[in-house]
Amino acid sequence: MSEKRTEIGELGEFGLIDRISEPFVNKQSSTKVGIGDDAAVISSGDHFTVVSTDMLIEGVHFDLSYMPLAHLGYKAVAVNVSDIAAMNAIPSQVTVSIGLSNRFSVEAVDMLYEGIRHACEAFGVDLVGGDTTSSPSGLIISVTAVGTVTKDAVTYRYGAQHHDIICVSGDLGGAYVGLQVLEREKQVFMSNPDMQPKLEDYDYVVKRQLKTEARTDIVHELKALDIQPTAMIDVSDGLASDLFHICKQSKVGVRIYEDKLPISTTTYDTAVELNFDPITCVLNGGEDYELLFTISESDADKVKNHHDITMIGFVQNEEDGRLLITKSGTTVNLKAQGWVHF
Ligand code: ADP
Ligand code: MG
Repeated sequence: MSEKRTEIGELGEFGLIDRISEPFVNKQSSTKVGIGDDAAVISSGDHFTVVSTDMLIEGVHFDLSYMPLAHLGYKAVAVNVSDIAAMNAIPSQVTVSIGLSNRFSVEAVDMLYEGIRHACEAFGVDLVGGDTTSSPSGLIISVTAVGTVTKDAVTYRYGAQHHDIICVSGDLGGAYVGLQVLEREKQVFMSNPDMQPKLEDYDYVVKRQLKTEARTDIVHELKALDIQPTAMIDVSDGLASDLFHICKQSKVGVRIYEDKLPISTTTYDTAVELNFDPITCVLNGGEDYELLFTISESDADKVKNHHDITMIGFVQNEEDGRLLITKSGTTVNLKAQGWVHF
């Protein structure tokens, strides 16, 4: 036996996906876009149907010692709805599949589905199917979301043009900082179970980690403002990493400004308290699930005073690079750390 063995870590998550998808050729004329964007795009009559799927695994994506099951159910739906929103589409249905070890009771499953039900109500989607199996250890939850978008409104990761303005919804870094707070409290609890977690001062960042929201409201907002984004992605891995996906697929460079990056006061103060650089949290912290998009220069006035959309920089030619202008005016190369699962 001299078969070559390659560790998955050598390829990384994106390298592995490239390798998996490479030999597949789409043959259906209705397959508009397959692997490679936030969701697949399928032509159906006068509109597009978009489909996205994500799997959450205990011990990798969540830790039940601080993640309540109802929040987990909500989050599992929200992260998929977020991918639908990133196509500028409106979600309509989800399927939910679960793998359960015998550690979980019927009541635990009830709690998980209570969160799923809340998310279905919040995002206006119907639960239309799924699968239930046993798991040798831990909890696995996989959600598929479906949505629709008109053919002229669909927004891909490609499409950003030189001179476009880069925008992001909400604020960033909170979910990552919230995770650090929860991890710290868990360590304190494990070393002394009599200690009760002190989380009051951290409400906002903990909520950003535990109660993930998908920005379907921004999709409606853009429509109301009569803005057709030129490219869009949701911020799941971190601003830098997700911006790089737009750069790669649109074949452009970017220039973003440190002093424009949206960060909440709580996120900033908590990051400092935990000895993290707040800007690194904004650039490389994941799981904020905000929408990152580019718009034409001519649409700038429409978002200029928007309370929940921030302009953070410009699209430039690919050969001009991916740059961050720091508060002191220094130009540095943006680095993407992102989440590493392998
Ligand atoms: P996101 O972070 O938006 O959920 P991913 O980075 O997980 O997206 O996936 C990137 C693309 O690769 C998507 O189009 C996704 O559907 C596809 N993909 C991921 N894993 C697989 C797989 N095992 N087989 C086929 N396609 C995959
Ligand atoms: Mg995505």
